[in-house]
Amino acid sequence: AKDDGRGMHCTYEPSLHAHAEERRTLELALRKAIANDELQLNFQPVVDAKTEGVASFEALLRWNSAEHGFVSPAKFIPLAEDTRLIIPIGEWVMIEACRQAMRWPAEIRVAVNVSGEQLLEPDFAATVVKALTATGLPAHRLEIEVTESVFLRDPKTANATLEEIVALGCSVALDDFGTGYSSLGYLRNNRFSTIKVDRSFVQGAAQESPESIAIIRAVVAMAQSLEMSTTAEGVETAEEADLIRSFGCTKIQGYYFGRPMGAEEAKSLVFRTRRA
Ligand code: C2E
Ligand code: CA
Ligand code: CA
Ligand code: CA
Repeated sequence: AKDDGRGMHCTYEPSLHAHAEERRTLELALRKAIANDELQLNFQPVVDAKTEGVASFEALLRWNSAEHGFVSPAKFIPLAEDTRLIIPIGEWVMIEACRQAMRWPAEIRVAVNVSGEQLLEPDFAATVVKALTATGLPAHRLEIEVTESVFLRDPKTANATLEEIVALGCSVALDDFGTGYSSLGYLRNNRFSTIKVDRSFVQGAAQESPESIAIIRAVVAMAQSLEMSTTAEGVETAEEADLIRSFGCTKIQGYYFGRPMGAEEAKSLVFRTRRA
């Protein structure tokens, strides 16, 4: 045969090499992103399922690189986690999110995504205190979003840190619920105030998947008896919003109620739609 192992080898290696090379240049650019003022936060509204008033905004990181243009979080967040750049970047996010939240009405909270790498740092709680103190944001207006994966590597440290965060007065949400290594054990300690039901279940329910519908209903029932609220993610249409409401989710997030938007737009949205 003409296509022996060597042929494969020759075509494969350069692309692997190119991939590593690309990651390396991206990493170098990301290292300079904070200093070069290339990072920004967008804010996506999370609305009360009943009143449709804005309950909170989720801060979502955006990177507009001078060299690489707009880079998707799906690409640079994993890179930042692998290189530990997520530590300084995460500190910047925490302070900037709290700073922006100070400009909103006092009943509106801000949710900040936190990676396992950040949560497992010994001084994570101190970073939170620093952001609250520097900006003056009351702790109860800050919500930390973590995914189930934070419990995989070092559940003891993760639990202890979440306890510290709750003791400060912040709330904690379990993000992307149902997509990871779900174990109900995580919920037993009652540290979470909110379960965020992953978009895949919302999409499934909209396509009349009986399994997705059953899972959402079960999660809502469980959350209710644990006195936690539920946020449905990724609601894109009025039909989906109605469906999700019929399941009893307490809050809704998704393009239907608002895409992630710049800080100024978020601020004007809350003052425009604020209910007396
Ligand atoms: P996530 O925490 O699950 O955030 C929700 C993602 O869903 C966001 O993507 C948001 O733009 C998108 N989304 C919201 N509503 C809809 C909808 O109706 N339809 C669809 N198709 N998508 C919707 P984004 O901004 O690209 O962020 C991706 C992920 O990157 C986030 O997922 C989060 O895991 C991570 N991330 C973003 N910002 C930060 C950050 O500051 N720190 C950390 N550690 N991770 C972050
Ligand atoms: Ca999130
Ligand atoms: Ca999510
Ligand atoms: Ca996610």
